[in-house]
Amino acid sequence: MGKTILITGANRGIGLELTREFASYGWRVLACCRDPQTAAELQTLAERSAGAVTVYPLEVTDGEQIRALSAALAEEKIDILLNNAGVSGPERQDFGEIDTEAWLRTFQINSIAPLQMAVAFVEQVARSRRKIIATVGSQLGSLTENTEGGMYAYRSSKAAAHMVTKSLSIDLQGRGITVVALHPGWVSTRMGGAEAPVKPRQSAADLFAVLTALTAKDTGKLWAHTGQVLPW
Ligand code: NDP
Repeated sequence: MGKTILITGANRGIGLELTREFASYGWRVLACCRDPQTAAELQTLAERSAGAVTVYPLEVTDGEQIRALSAALAEEKIDILLNNAGVSGPERQDFGEIDTEAWLRTFQINSIAPLQMAVAFVEQVARSRRKIIATVGSQLGSLTENTEGGMYAYRSSKAAAHMVTKSLSIDLQGRGITVVALHPGWVSTRMGGAEAPVKPRQSAADLFAVLTALTAKDTGKLWAHTGQVLPW
């Protein structure tokens, strides 16, 4: 039976490598990105995928666009809904620096959009075989692991994404849906920077292993790409 994953922010970074990774294992990938016209690498991947990868436009803060995509994909079974799209937030966000408008925008993308996606696509996930909703959170959003302070917008938006994950895991347990947050490692993408130790392809391979091994008992947790559970 075919397996299907929907990935947001699939045009570059970890999302693009996850698209490549899942397609290479025979998954169908519904690859969403803000602007398909400028997503050259993703388009090439789709063209060479023999129909495995399909590209859809999706700005994750646009609730109407989310609902329209869900309606267009109403008959699908989505084994994994993967909220990957994210931003690091304003350039300056340490003590005394924060721009509240930019902070709110960071929240919209990193914390609120994953919940809107879950609400919009819950039926497609519920009728799939694997029934997984995953959101890329971050170790930087862990209260326990915060020893350095600062980064108010990013940290708080990812902590909120973790809490959204936790509540969803409880709300959707009765429907057999597994809901997790993921930490991809410190990855050398545009966001992570060139000095980051983990390559996007490695992170994607690790996350593939984590996501495809999940079972119902793993719900409501923050999973690192290494396969360990991190404290919230
Ligand atoms: P990149 O900056 O390389 O990619 C971010 C992706 O998110 C792009 O595809 C971008 O699209 C998309 N995106 C941003 N805003 C929106 C939006 N409003 N609507 C739709 N898509 C959007 O970052 P990474 O690949 O590194 O990050 C992927 C995820 O991993 C993020 O959630 C990030 O927070 C998380 N993460 C990353 C870490 C790292 O070290 N890199 C560490 C921990 C977590 P566009 O090209 O159109 O801007």
